[in-house]
Amino acid sequence: MRNRFDLIILGGGIMAGSLAYNLLKDGYTGSIAIFEKDRTYEYSSTPRSEGGIRQTFSTEINIKMSQYSYQVYKNFEKEMAIDGDLSLIDFKQHGYLYLLNSKTLPIYKEIMKIQESLGVRAELLNQKETKEFFPELNVEDLEGSVFDPDAGNIDPYSVLQGYVKQVKNMGGNYIYQEVQAILSEQQKITGVKLKNGEIYYAPVVVNAAGAWAGELSQTIGLDIPVKPLRRQLFSVDTKKKFQNHIPFTFDPTGLHFRSEGSKVVVGWANDVPYEYNFRLEKSLFEDKIWPVLAERSPNFEQLKLERGWAGLYDYNYIDHNAIIGGHPSMEGYYIITGFSGHGFQHAPAAGKGLSELIRLGKFETIDMSALSVERFAKNQLILETAVF
Ligand SMILES: Cc1cc2nc3c(=O)[nH]c(=O)nc-3n(C[C@H](O)[C@H](O)[C@H](O)COP(=O)(O)OP(=O)(O)OC[C@H]3O[C@@H](n4cnc5c(N)ncnc54)[C@H](O)[C@@H]3O)c2cc1C
Repeated sequence: MRNRFDLIILGGGIMAGSLAYNLLKDGYTGSIAIFEKDRTYEYSSTPRSEGGIRQTFSTEINIKMSQYSYQVYKNFEKEMAIDGDLSLIDFKQHGYLYLLNSKTLPIYKEIMKIQESLGVRAELLNQKETKEFFPELNVEDLEGSVFDPDAGNIDPYSVLQGYVKQVKNMGGNYIYQEVQAILSEQQKITGVKLKNGEIYYAPVVVNAAGAWAGELSQTIGLDIPVKPLRRQLFSVDTKKKFQNHIPFTFDPTGLHFRSEGSKVVVGWANDVPYEYNFRLEKSLFEDKIWPVLAERSPNFEQLKLERGWAGLYDYNYIDHNAIIGGHPSMEGYYIITGFSGHGFQHAPAAGKGLSELIRLGKFETIDMSALSVERFAKNQLILETAVF
């Protein structure tokens, strides 16, 4: 029957794509339906992401997920090719640079120990070396920096489309309809009800609805700590150009900036209420961000704000890390969300992990049990220092 599937995924973003791809690639033989409310992905988080990827996290689980995903992204264009057509994703490997002051340097020195033990390449630069590496920076207030040479950024929309096309090619079904509610009976998943009133049945439902995941989970009375958190990005043209490509550079103030072609993209993790709000506040740039940029480099003193955009983090407001796994109170209900600002880079690993859990009942490639939803009740939080 057309309204019965073995597995339903809610949301058709990068998490859904990676999960469905891994299931199908690794031999899952059941039928899969992916419900996506907007086939243009206008407000979805994946295409609004910066596509930054790095390995310089502070917890073992995040580092391992980064390392796995990095390998996937390096081969993605070939792996997702269909009939010999490469799935181009424009991976620019210009590194991440963390600028450090007297407060943050000791923290990063500690983090580097775990990174080194897991084989992450990261280089500590003193103040002079930082200036040599990035000559236009004012470094007087800095003690130095850490450079992650394997990091960079990838075009997120291309990755999303790569997964979507490959999943369709492998037999997954994308259904462009909005899900109104998840359905259950006696603590077991039975399917979903669409906004248009139709019902689709499945014994397994995966919540991959990103910033909307918390709201959808409430339709079966289960709270997961995920809310929409607006993040804004601004693209500027500086009158005086920088000599070299700017890596993803994190300032101690919380600002970050990087080159995008001849322009510079700037972001700042400011405090905003949890809401579905996509407004770009130019005044934030003019009043708060620009003065800080101009302090960091004279090249930012004269610039034109050309454009910008806002998107939503699928924000885990408890410990800011992914939630992956089954829900203990509902048979057949799985979650893959809450990635906050690092979902794009962890999607390949997350999809692989959850596909193993669904197919085999256990994690094989990376043990992701630390990311279970149970961790909140047990107060076993993931304390990641390097998230922004
Ligand atoms: C400005 C910004 C910058 C970012 N930068 C980075 C970065 O540099 N690196 C990084 O790793 N991560 C970054 N992220 C985070 C990353 O983009 C997200 O964690 C990731 O894209 C989440 O993927 P997703 O598939 O869960 O969500 P989405 O891409 O939002 O997909 C969820 C989908 O669910 C659909 N949906 C929702 N409700 C329903 C419903 N009821 N019925 C049907 N469909 C529904 C939505 O339309 C959406 O398409 C950034 C995010 C933002 C906003």
